[in-house]
Amino acid sequence: MLLDPSDVEVCIADDTTGHGEDGAPTATPIVQTSLFTFPTFAALIDGLNAEHERHVYTRGQNPTVAAVERKLAALERGEACKCFASGMAAISAVMLATLRSGDHILFVNHTYGPTLQLAEHLRRFGVEHDVLLDLDAGAFRRALRPETRLVWLESPGSMLFRVLDIRALTSIARERGIATCIDNSWATPLCQKPLALGADIVVHTCTKYLGGHSDLVAGAVVSTTARIEEIFYRAYLLNGGILAPFDAWLLLRGLRTLPARLRQHEVDALRVAEFLRAHPAVRRVHHPAFAEDRELIASQLTGYTGLLSFELAHDDFDSVARFIDGLRRFRIGVSWGGVESLVISPSRSDNARELDARGIPAGLVRLSVGLEGADALIADLDSALARAR
Ligand SMILES: *Cc1c(COP(=O)(O)O)cnc(C)c1O
Repeated sequence: MLLDPSDVEVCIADDTTGHGEDGAPTATPIVQTSLFTFPTFAALIDGLNAEHERHVYTRGQNPTVAAVERKLAALERGEACKCFASGMAAISAVMLATLRSGDHILFVNHTYGPTLQLAEHLRRFGVEHDVLLDLDAGAFRRALRPETRLVWLESPGSMLFRVLDIRALTSIARERGIATCIDNSWATPLCQKPLALGADIVVHTCTKYLGGHSDLVAGAVVSTTARIEEIFYRAYLLNGGILAPFDAWLLLRGLRTLPARLRQHEVDALRVAEFLRAHPAVRRVHHPAFAEDRELIASQLTGYTGLLSFELAHDDFDSVARFIDGLRRFRIGVSWGGVESLVISPSRSDNARELDARGIPAGLVRLSVGLEGADALIADLDSALARAR
């Protein structure tokens, strides 16, 4: 993992607490207030006229939330950031602010399930979409429609972690005046900077690695000041999906250990991936480290995180369930990116055909490699794999 020293500084430093002053606190204060008062009525009116940048009401701006927004904008090399109550609130806000009836969204790569479910709901408002799983630039050109207003990228993608050529796809979209948004949750801004690769908007779930301890739900959008202001007025202030000051504070605390956590997640997940790749009960391991196009990977990712998947050789539902139930260290649950290792599978007893249609192999198991240590995790996988056969 190649970390930019300035990113590590942004993650760790506090920019709100008066460095150099006697008795300055080291942690950002939690400004637990719903509203801010003004010395005069005229000053309040000024505040209301610029609510995207002034403290008036915590449904708009709050200093603790603003502290984490500054950090995320800096890490993504974006001009501005807005934080939300969840990753899905951030994703909804981008769609709501960008699209109108008659528009079309093109999703490229395997996309986070609820993001696609949201797109299904948008059909009721006259917004159509397609999902493109052929990642070739030619296929991408052909899939764009005259009505396409938004291209939605995920790289590495959900579940199979296939990597897109972000530069190529965003430049094609830009030529046609189509906005591109990328979900950068897997890589985090420490390992991939999509705005520098040509994307217009970056979204994150902060619930995963950025928070890092499975104790908060949050999301973020990073883009230009103009776009964030548009999102603020169209889909933040009036939708009300705000990040609460206390959760913003937890997120600030999580960010302080992000560089150290990611370094360890990378090393341990690579060891787990190598172990699985050599195991006879495993058909295939999905991790960007094993992708063929090394040049592309090296030009986009400066490191790997700890989320990967693999296919069991015995891929019927009962074998998957037996394997998962045989694990002791990996806990069974949704989400990922915390200190504890987690396991899940998209497999159900009745969805083999649906998975096939989505290009997801039967027998797929997803692991979030936590910080318990690779030796203990590999021993756990080894004994559960023995039972799965
Ligand atoms: C979890 C997740 C989201 C949604 O984030 P929430 O904070 O759960 O709303 C979005 N994208 C990806 C890739 C995710 O894994």
